[in-house]
Amino acid sequence: MSGPAALISLIVPCFNEERNIPSLYERLLEVMEPINLAFEIILINDGSTDQTLTIVQNLHQKDKRVRYASFSRNFGHEAASSCGFELAKGDAAILLDADLQDPPELIPEMIRRWHNGAQMVYGRRLSREGEGIRKRASSYLFYRLLNRLSDTQIPADVGDFRLVDRVVIDHFNALPERNRFVRGMFSWVGFRQEEIPFTREQRHQGDSKYNWFKLFLLAFDAITSFSVSPLRICSLVGLMVTMASFAAAITVSLQKLLWGMAIPGYAFATAGMFLLGGVQLLFLGMIGEYIGKIYTQVQGRPLFIVDETESTTSARMSKTQDSLPHE
Ligand code: UDP
Ligand code: MG
Repeated sequence: MSGPAALISLIVPCFNEERNIPSLYERLLEVMEPINLAFEIILINDGSTDQTLTIVQNLHQKDKRVRYASFSRNFGHEAASSCGFELAKGDAAILLDADLQDPPELIPEMIRRWHNGAQMVYGRRLSREGEGIRKRASSYLFYRLLNRLSDTQIPADVGDFRLVDRVVIDHFNALPERNRFVRGMFSWVGFRQEEIPFTREQRHQGDSKYNWFKLFLLAFDAITSFSVSPLRICSLVGLMVTMASFAAAITVSLQKLLWGMAIPGYAFATAGMFLLGGVQLLFLGMIGEYIGKIYTQVQGRPLFIVDETESTTSARMSKTQDSLPHE
């Protein structure tokens, strides 16, 4: 927590957001200028294929409070957010979407709470405009399941939109995992957290980058990143199946030996075989999931590759100017 001279970093991951960035910039200025705190806007271009980078570069030319990093390709929202937190120089940083779904008008209240001692302030969505019953139901299920399975309690209906104090940012940046489920990691880090309810708006322009399959993968990834309970469930189910088979074997033997009953058909045996085969494959997959995580972690590749930032472009420019007289 800092006094009035504080700097606020606004971090915005952008993937093909050419139509949203200009209005986002205007709205951010409208909100930030009356607050009387220094601020920087960090735009992360996550390998966009539209005019996002050009727009971002032009904004930086016009307004030096706009900083940026541009990735060599698309690395995903979580990597882009992580990069933003690494670049942020602020005493607090605010992470928000480029599509104006996270209303910048909430920022003054976040900053007020931060001044009053909160180290993290996140928005909790009251309603989800424009999201169907299926998405709401799956999101509800996802959080219930995740919190059941993992030791880290991750609040439901809380997205990535949040203010984070410098202390928390430093701890977040120090976390070594490759697999970054940002909101989960912030819950894991802890500190004094507060929430503000808000109504999430519809996307300003363009489409969501997430489809059902991506969301399913994200959920699965989040669960396996934060908990080893699925492995325990596998062992437990394995134990139950073994006990049931044992009981079935005893019953069948008794029927044959004591009462001389003919053991009926192959149906039972075949069904059991398929069931066991299926369960084994499923569990093998589950173990594989964790091995995959170990694999990416051990590889130790960087989370993202930055192609250019506002300082490398100016460095490049000054280099060309320096070398001019010698050519
Ligand atoms: N985004 C990104 N990289 C990606 C996908 C999305 O940087 O690979 C950005 C996107 O530009 C937006 C934010 O992450 O600012 C959230 O994405 P989106 O609005 O598509 O997700 P939703 O709001 O539907 O969860
Ligand atoms: Mg969005």
